[in-house]
Amino acid sequence: MNKLDWISDNLEELKSQSLFINVKTIESPMGPKIKVDGRWVLNFCSNNYLGLANHPALLKAAKKAIDEFGIGPTAVRTIAGTTKLHRQLESALAKFKKAEDVITFQSGFNANLATIPALIQEEDIIFSDELNHASIIDGSRLSKATVVRYDHANPDDLQKKIQENKGFKKKLIVSDGVFSMDGDIAPLTELLEIAEKFNCILMVDDAHGEGVLGSHGRGIVDHFNLHGKVDVEVGTLSKAFGVVGGFVAGKKLIVDWLRQRARPYLFSSAMTVPDVAACLEAVKILEEKDDLVLKLWENSKYFKQKLTHFGFDIGKSQTPITPVMLGDAKLAQEFSKKLYDQGIFATAIKYPTVPVGQSRIRVMISASHSKDNLDAALDAFGKVGRKLKVIN
Ligand code: PMP
Repeated sequence: MNKLDWISDNLEELKSQSLFINVKTIESPMGPKIKVDGRWVLNFCSNNYLGLANHPALLKAAKKAIDEFGIGPTAVRTIAGTTKLHRQLESALAKFKKAEDVITFQSGFNANLATIPALIQEEDIIFSDELNHASIIDGSRLSKATVVRYDHANPDDLQKKIQENKGFKKKLIVSDGVFSMDGDIAPLTELLEIAEKFNCILMVDDAHGEGVLGSHGRGIVDHFNLHGKVDVEVGTLSKAFGVVGGFVAGKKLIVDWLRQRARPYLFSSAMTVPDVAACLEAVKILEEKDDLVLKLWENSKYFKQKLTHFGFDIGKSQTPITPVMLGDAKLAQEFSKKLYDQGIFATAIKYPTVPVGQSRIRVMISASHSKDNLDAALDAFGKVGRKLKVIN
């Protein structure tokens, strides 16, 4: 037997279960309409919430920065990778988030991998929402701490688990802010009360709340008006901000410590110059105006109302993330394929991204969608839903 036979077996198994991931290739700039594998389709799967990914001001800022500073930092932040732009971005984000300080990372995933092991070690315990993102799970594993999962968005269960698990040195409560596959919002005020009561560090991963929740898209801490109270707010620059990168906003003491001990900051090269410059421009746009955030919510409300009216189950989403619950992986795959045939690009989300039996189409609404775009998608959802007998 060949030592790699198990991989071929597993790949075949994935295909037989409709769980094999086929990656589509994008041949145009990101936007409401994109060219995929040679064909223009309406895009309902990227996290381009505010349409900033191809915004002229971001493109201009990135190009100007390349002329001034080049592209690659070719060094980690602590050696020669911190340009003046990196510093400016961290100050601008801290001001925007109304946080004491901000440290940036190369991605949101890295921000979680960086932060959890820097704060929590083997003799400590992590209380983690059962639906937390993979990067929180991996960051928790890296810390070697004991991990206890509490029932999704359930403060009572969290409190019970804390009371059942005593004797650890430090305690961390960690939760997604907006849950990426369901679109519901963590009960942050209740989590904070419990964190204060039991002396736990509180960390929230606001990847899908940045640019979406709160005034001008300042995120979940602003949404619940908890400025200065949540210890760590992780954010991403890869979704609503339209670029790529991650950050931690929070108490200065924690950010000071992360600058000394966060391993992706110490051992992986800095964000590239054009990325940083484009992010700076995105923060500026959000500081100045909230029209894109308002448009995003208006579009989401319209789309979700119509889908519900058709009879689709859109779960418990409270945000622009719109899951169309289908259950079976094969049905989700078939649904997505039929939508695509009608020019609507909305991917099926299956195991392991969501639990087995909870496959869905996850529709991502953007401020850049026109009403015509939304209506075209709704029309296709109606037709495919009736054809596959998901709705009447
Ligand atoms: N946290 C959450 C909750 C996410 O949804 C994502 C993106 N899928 C990340 C972190 C990772 O962010 P990034 O894409 O910037 O690495």
